[in-house]
Amino acid sequence: MTSEVHAAPSVQSRAEVYRNDLFGDPVQPPRKGTTPGGYASPMAGPEGETCATCKWAVRTRHYSKCGHPIMRPRWTHGVATDIRLKTRACAKWEKP
Ligand code: SF4
Repeated sequence: MTSEVHAAPSVQSRAEVYRNDLFGDPVQPPRKGTTPGGYASPMAGPEGETCATCKWAVRTRHYSKCGHPIMRPRWTHGVATDIRLKTRACAKWEKP
């Protein structure tokens, strides 16, 4: 007759639990601000117009931002407040 000593199951700390998924693989932190989303309004603007034809579009060599007074104070140095000039104009569109 053998006597076996059962080891107590390992207890993971809360931090370890949240670092790994159900299969034990490490969880990648979500990437923030990878999509341009700095548009002044979620509502669509005039048909046929884009941010490129708007007076508020601010272009630099590497990125574009919406310079509408609503958006300018919210600018960050990241992609999340960039705009794509080919995007359909929003409700704040104005003729240059
Ligand atoms: S249409 Fe004009 S106001 Fe609207 S997000 Fe584009 S640049 Fe800004």
